[in-house]
Parts: sequence; C-alpha cells; structure tokens
Amino acid sequence: MQVKHINTGLYDANSFLINGKVLVDTGMNTKGMLEEITKSIELKDLEMVILTHCHYDHTASALEISHLSGAKIAIHINDADLLKNDHVSAASMFGYKAPSIEPDVLLNEGDRIDIGNDEELEVIHTPGHTPGGICLYEAKSRSLFSGDTVFPGGSIGRTDFEGGNRSQLTGSIEKLVKLDVRTLYPGHGDVSSNDVNRQIELSLRMSKGIF
Ligand SMILES: [Zn+2]
Ligand SMILES: [Zn+2]
Repeated sequence: MQVKHINTGLYDANSFLINGKVLVDTGMNTKGMLEEITKSIELKDLEMVILTHCHYDHTASALEISHLSGAKIAIHINDADLLKNDHVSAASMFGYKAPSIEPDVLLNEGDRIDIGNDEELEVIHTPGHTPGGICLYEAKSRSLFSGDTVFPGGSIGRTDFEGGNRSQLTGSIEKLVKLDVRTLYPGHGDVSSNDVNRQIELSLRMSKGIF
C-alpha cells in the first residue's frame, strides 16, 4: 500500500492519498489539497473520498474535490446526515455553514473497500467521537487509519461535542486493540510506527480513565 500524507493547514485534519486513487479525509484548504493531489496523480484518477467522520476539519473540501475529480464520497451511514448539520459537523465552530454533501456510498461495519493492488480497507465502526466515526484497517500492511478515535501516544478523540459518547468510544477502542497494527495514520498529528499496539492499549486505558 502506498500512502501520501497530506496536511495543508494548521487546523486541518490529516489526509491520506492511498494507492493514488482513494483519499481519506480532505481537510479544509481545497486549493492546497488539489495542489498536493495533482503533484502525485491526475485528478480524474481519484476514485473515492472516504470521510472518517462528519467533522468540518475533515470534510470541508470533499464536495469540491468530488465535483472536480468525479470521485465518490463515502461515509458511515450514521454520520451521513450530520455532514450537513452546521452544529454537529462543527462547521459553525470554524465560522462556516456545513457543505451540503450528499454521500454516494454509505458505509457499514465490516464493509471492504477495494483500493487496488489486491488490497482493501476494512471499515470498523468506531462511534464515540461522532455517532458514525470509522477507522479503516488494511491487513497486508497492518495499517490503521484512525480518524479522531485514537491518536499516537495513547491519546483519544474528544467526546464532549454533540454526538460524542465516552462509553461508546471505549467500546470502539476495545475493537481496535484486537487488531495487529504496525502503522497508525491518525486524523491529527504524526504518523507512527512505534509499537502501535501498545499505543492503542494506552488509549484504551485513557478512555476508561485508568492511569
Ligand atoms: Zn479532527
Ligand atoms: Zn473530529
């Protein structure tokens, strides 16, 4: 699996261009994102934009990128309507209205997304930060795209926004500790390959309030 890490602004979420055809999250800086994508591929070769959850800092550029490239937009079914909610999407927090994204693909737990090279992303429903948050696991490279569910160093996603729920987040991280993860691609911060399974265990303890 080939991954290009793109981050185009201080408050923007991380984006990851996978195998030159799938983009995980888009950030908010549409111009900067388009520049970075087209350094690697032709825009028309982008097939899918997968949103890890409905928050504006991950999704704001999705509509325009989808229009320009023809890529389909995918998100978990429980976050699909929240994309358009100014408040729950956190768009209002950034001083904007939520973009009117109509997703093309509604994801569910256990779905598998073909990313080429005989590789696929498995959808793991990880509610808690938002109701329809997902993580994406690629088994061959043991990679986890964790959105805002877990971050390196044992950090966890906030659960104090509307739609957040700490006990759900704990249940979600319990799913993640069962995986064998070599590389963590979080929604914010640095990519990590340093004893990631241990880092996710620490996130579980953090979520449970055990220190
Ligand atoms: Zn975020
Ligand atoms: Zn978020």
